[in-house]
Amino acid sequence: MSYNIAIDGPAGAGKSTVAKRVAKEKRFIYVDTGAMYRAMGLYFLREGIRAEDMGQVSEKCKNVDITISYVDGEQVVFLNGENVNGLIRTEEVGNMTSACSVNPQVRKKLVELQQRLARDADVVMDGRDIGTCVLPDADVKIYLTAGSGVRAKRRYEELQAKGMECDLEQIEKDIIERDSRDMNREISPLRQAEDAVFLDSSAMSIDEVVGKILELCQ
Ligand code: C5P
Repeated sequence: MSYNIAIDGPAGAGKSTVAKRVAKEKRFIYVDTGAMYRAMGLYFLREGIRAEDMGQVSEKCKNVDITISYVDGEQVVFLNGENVNGLIRTEEVGNMTSACSVNPQVRKKLVELQQRLARDADVVMDGRDIGTCVLPDADVKIYLTAGSGVRAKRRYEELQAKGMECDLEQIEKDIIERDSRDMNREISPLRQAEDAVFLDSSAMSIDEVVGKILELCQ
Protein backbone atom coordinates (compact mmCIF):
# COMPACT_ATOMS: atom_id res chain seq x y z
CA MET A 1 0.00 0.00 0.00
CA SER A 2 1.30 3.43 -0.87
CA TYR A 3 1.53 6.22 1.73
CA ASN A 4 -0.38 9.37 0.81
CA ILE A 5 -0.20 12.89 2.24
CA ALA A 6 -2.94 15.29 1.10
CA ILE A 7 -2.53 19.08 1.37
CA ASP A 8 -5.43 21.35 0.47
CA GLY A 9 -5.98 25.06 0.84
CA PRO A 10 -6.63 28.34 -0.95
CA ALA A 11 -4.32 30.05 -3.46
CA GLY A 12 -0.98 31.23 -2.12
CA ALA A 13 -1.19 29.44 1.24
CA GLY A 14 2.25 27.93 0.64
CA LYS A 15 1.05 24.43 -0.29
CA SER A 16 3.52 23.75 -3.08
CA THR A 17 6.58 25.04 -1.19
CA VAL A 18 5.67 22.96 1.85
CA ALA A 19 4.61 19.89 -0.15
CA LYS A 20 7.90 19.90 -2.11
CA ARG A 21 9.90 20.06 1.11
CA VAL A 22 7.91 17.28 2.78
CA ALA A 23 8.25 15.11 -0.33
CA LYS A 24 12.01 15.61 -0.32
CA GLU A 25 12.31 14.71 3.37
CA LYS A 26 10.16 11.60 2.97
CA ARG A 27 11.56 10.69 -0.46
CA PHE A 28 8.01 10.72 -1.81
CA ILE A 29 6.80 12.04 -5.15
CA TYR A 30 5.29 15.53 -5.14
CA VAL A 31 2.13 15.78 -7.21
CA ASP A 32 1.00 19.34 -8.00
CA THR A 33 -2.61 18.90 -9.13
CA GLY A 34 -3.05 22.66 -9.69
CA ALA A 35 -0.51 22.39 -12.52
CA MET A 36 -2.69 19.77 -14.23
CA TYR A 37 -5.77 22.04 -14.02
CA ARG A 38 -3.63 24.95 -15.22
CA ALA A 39 -2.54 22.96 -18.30
CA MET A 40 -6.25 22.43 -19.05
CA GLY A 41 -6.88 26.15 -18.49
CA LEU A 42 -4.08 27.03 -20.90
CA TYR A 43 -5.62 24.78 -23.53
CA PHE A 44 -9.02 26.51 -23.24
CA LEU A 45 -7.37 29.95 -23.36
CA ARG A 46 -5.51 29.02 -26.52
CA GLU A 47 -8.66 27.64 -28.10
CA GLY A 48 -10.51 30.86 -27.26
CA ILE A 49 -13.21 28.99 -25.35
CA ARG A 50 -15.26 30.87 -22.78
CA ALA A 51 -15.13 29.08 -19.42
CA GLU A 52 -18.88 29.74 -18.90
CA ASP A 53 -19.66 27.70 -22.02
CA MET A 54 -19.98 24.39 -20.18
CA GLY A 55 -20.96 22.46 -23.32
CA GLN A 56 -17.84 23.56 -25.22
CA VAL A 57 -15.56 22.94 -22.24
CA SER A 58 -16.97 19.41 -21.80
CA GLU A 59 -16.69 18.68 -25.50
CA LYS A 60 -13.21 20.15 -26.03
CA CYS A 61 -11.80 18.54 -22.92
CA LYS A 62 -12.06 15.18 -24.73
CA ASN A 63 -9.22 16.38 -27.02
CA VAL A 64 -6.92 17.10 -24.12
CA ASP A 65 -4.31 14.68 -22.92
CA ILE A 66 -2.52 15.70 -19.71
CA THR A 67 0.43 13.66 -18.49
CA ILE A 68 3.21 14.32 -16.03
CA SER A 69 6.76 13.14 -15.64
CA TYR A 70 9.68 14.00 -13.37
CA VAL A 71 12.92 15.64 -14.44
CA ASP A 72 15.52 16.00 -11.66
CA GLY A 73 12.72 15.55 -9.14
CA GLU A 74 10.63 18.40 -10.64
CA GLN A 75 7.15 17.67 -11.95
CA VAL A 76 6.77 18.47 -15.65
CA VAL A 77 3.26 18.75 -17.11
CA PHE A 78 2.60 17.88 -20.73
CA LEU A 79 -0.40 19.19 -22.63
CA ASN A 80 -0.92 16.96 -25.66
CA GLY A 81 2.77 16.10 -25.55
CA GLU A 82 4.03 19.70 -25.10
CA ASN A 83 5.93 20.66 -21.95
CA VAL A 84 3.90 23.62 -20.64
CA ASN A 85 5.62 24.17 -17.28
CA GLY A 86 6.89 27.60 -18.32
CA LEU A 87 3.47 28.80 -19.50
CA ILE A 88 0.99 27.98 -16.75
CA ARG A 89 2.02 30.22 -13.82
CA THR A 90 0.44 33.47 -14.98
CA GLU A 91 -2.56 35.10 -13.27
CA GLU A 92 -4.43 34.93 -16.60
CA VAL A 93 -4.06 31.14 -16.72
CA GLY A 94 -4.88 30.89 -12.99
CA ASN A 95 -8.16 32.76 -13.38
CA MET A 96 -9.18 30.79 -16.48
CA THR A 97 -8.27 27.58 -14.68
CA SER A 98 -10.44 28.28 -11.68
CA ALA A 99 -13.34 29.15 -14.00
CA CYS A 100 -13.13 25.93 -16.04
CA SER A 101 -12.27 23.59 -13.18
CA VAL A 102 -15.95 23.75 -12.08
CA ASN A 103 -16.64 21.48 -15.07
CA PRO A 104 -17.33 17.83 -14.11
CA GLN A 105 -15.68 16.36 -17.24
CA VAL A 106 -12.50 18.31 -16.58
CA ARG A 107 -12.42 17.11 -12.97
CA LYS A 108 -13.20 13.48 -13.78
CA LYS A 109 -10.33 13.26 -16.21
CA LEU A 110 -7.76 14.75 -13.84
CA VAL A 111 -8.99 12.99 -10.68
CA GLU A 112 -8.53 9.61 -12.40
CA LEU A 113 -4.95 10.49 -13.26
CA GLN A 114 -4.27 11.71 -9.72
CA GLN A 115 -5.74 8.59 -8.10
CA ARG A 116 -3.63 6.37 -10.34
CA LEU A 117 -0.46 8.24 -9.35
CA ALA A 118 -1.24 7.95 -5.64
CA ARG A 119 -2.04 4.26 -5.90
CA ASP A 120 1.27 3.49 -7.59
CA ALA A 121 3.61 5.57 -5.43
CA ASP A 122 4.05 7.29 -2.05
CA VAL A 123 2.98 10.86 -2.73
CA VAL A 124 2.52 14.30 -1.26
CA MET A 125 -0.33 15.72 -3.32
CA ASP A 126 -1.62 19.27 -3.09
CA GLY A 127 -4.73 20.92 -4.48
CA ARG A 128 -8.25 21.84 -3.43
CA ASP A 129 -10.13 18.52 -3.17
CA ILE A 130 -7.39 16.02 -2.36
CA GLY A 131 -8.45 15.17 1.21
CA THR A 132 -12.15 15.36 0.44
CA CYS A 133 -12.45 13.68 -3.00
CA VAL A 134 -9.25 12.48 -4.64
CA LEU A 135 -7.69 10.64 -1.68
CA PRO A 136 -10.37 10.32 1.01
CA ASP A 137 -8.24 7.60 2.71
CA ALA A 138 -4.99 9.57 2.73
CA ASP A 139 -2.74 8.75 5.70
CA VAL A 140 -2.23 12.41 6.61
CA LYS A 141 -4.47 15.31 5.61
CA ILE A 142 -3.62 18.98 6.00
CA TYR A 143 -5.73 22.07 5.39
CA LEU A 144 -3.21 24.88 4.95
CA THR A 145 -4.36 28.47 4.85
CA ALA A 146 -3.28 32.06 5.63
CA GLY A 147 -4.95 35.49 5.54
CA SER A 148 -5.69 36.80 2.03
CA GLY A 149 -3.34 39.80 2.50
CA VAL A 150 -0.45 37.50 3.43
CA ARG A 151 -1.20 35.18 0.51
CA ALA A 152 -1.41 38.05 -1.99
CA LYS A 153 1.93 39.41 -0.79
CA ARG A 154 3.57 36.01 -1.20
CA ARG A 155 2.22 35.62 -4.73
CA TYR A 156 3.33 39.17 -5.57
CA GLU A 157 6.87 38.47 -4.38
CA GLU A 158 6.94 35.16 -6.26
CA LEU A 159 5.91 36.85 -9.54
CA GLN A 160 8.30 39.77 -9.00
CA ALA A 161 11.17 37.37 -8.42
CA LYS A 162 10.41 35.89 -11.83
CA GLY A 163 10.56 39.39 -13.31
CA MET A 164 6.82 39.49 -14.06
CA GLU A 165 4.84 42.76 -14.00
CA CYS A 166 2.24 42.67 -11.24
CA ASP A 167 0.03 44.75 -9.00
CA LEU A 168 -0.46 43.76 -5.35
CA GLU A 169 -4.02 45.07 -5.06
CA GLN A 170 -5.09 43.32 -8.24
CA ILE A 171 -3.49 40.06 -7.05
CA GLU A 172 -5.40 40.19 -3.75
CA LYS A 173 -8.64 40.88 -5.63
CA ASP A 174 -7.98 37.93 -7.97
CA ILE A 175 -7.11 35.66 -5.03
CA ILE A 176 -10.33 36.50 -3.19
CA GLU A 177 -12.39 35.95 -6.35
CA ARG A 178 -10.63 32.67 -7.15
CA ASP A 179 -11.05 31.35 -3.57
CA SER A 180 -14.70 32.24 -3.56
CA ARG A 181 -15.25 30.38 -6.84
CA ASP A 182 -13.21 27.37 -5.63
CA MET A 183 -15.10 27.26 -2.30
CA ASN A 184 -18.57 27.75 -3.69
CA ARG A 185 -18.57 25.53 -6.76
CA GLU A 186 -20.98 22.63 -6.83
CA ILE A 187 -18.50 19.82 -7.48
CA SER A 188 -15.59 19.20 -5.12
CA PRO A 189 -15.50 22.66 -3.54
CA LEU A 190 -12.46 23.66 -1.53
CA ARG A 191 -13.15 22.82 2.10
CA GLN A 192 -11.39 21.24 5.03
CA ALA A 193 -11.90 17.47 5.22
CA GLU A 194 -13.35 16.43 8.59
CA ASP A 195 -10.21 14.50 9.45
CA ALA A 196 -7.75 17.11 8.16
CA VAL A 197 -5.43 19.06 10.45
CA PHE A 198 -5.92 22.83 10.13
CA LEU A 199 -2.74 24.91 9.82
CA ASP A 200 -2.72 28.69 9.46
CA SER A 201 0.66 29.67 7.99
CA SER A 202 0.14 33.46 8.39
CA ALA A 203 2.53 33.56 11.32
CA MET A 204 4.40 30.28 10.76
CA SER A 205 7.67 29.81 8.88
CA ILE A 206 8.00 27.20 6.13
CA ASP A 207 10.21 25.15 8.46
CA GLU A 208 7.55 25.18 11.17
CA VAL A 209 4.82 24.02 8.79
CA VAL A 210 7.05 21.29 7.31
CA GLY A 211 8.09 20.17 10.81
CA LYS A 212 4.47 19.93 11.91
CA ILE A 213 3.52 17.79 8.90
CA LEU A 214 6.50 15.45 9.38
CA GLU A 215 5.48 15.09 13.02
CA LEU A 216 1.96 14.12 11.96
CA CYS A 217 3.39 11.41 9.70
CA GLN A 218 4.97 9.65 12.66
O1 C5P B 1 -3.03 25.49 -6.96
P1 C5P B 1 -3.17 26.38 -8.15
O2 C5P B 1 -3.30 27.83 -7.79
O3 C5P B 1 -2.10 26.12 -9.16
O4 C5P B 1 -4.55 25.93 -8.83
C1 C5P B 1 -5.13 26.65 -9.89
C2 C5P B 1 -6.64 26.41 -9.90
O5 C5P B 1 -6.90 25.05 -10.25
C3 C5P B 1 -7.35 26.62 -8.58
O6 C5P B 1 -7.75 27.94 -8.38
C4 C5P B 1 -8.56 25.68 -8.70
O7 C5P B 1 -9.62 26.32 -9.36
C5 C5P B 1 -8.06 24.57 -9.61
N1 C5P B 1 -7.76 23.36 -8.85
C6 C5P B 1 -8.81 22.53 -8.52
N2 C5P B 1 -8.57 21.36 -7.87
C7 C5P B 1 -7.31 21.00 -7.53
C8 C5P B 1 -6.23 21.85 -7.83
C9 C5P B 1 -6.49 23.05 -8.48
O8 C5P B 1 -9.96 22.82 -8.82
N3 C5P B 1 -7.11 19.82 -6.93
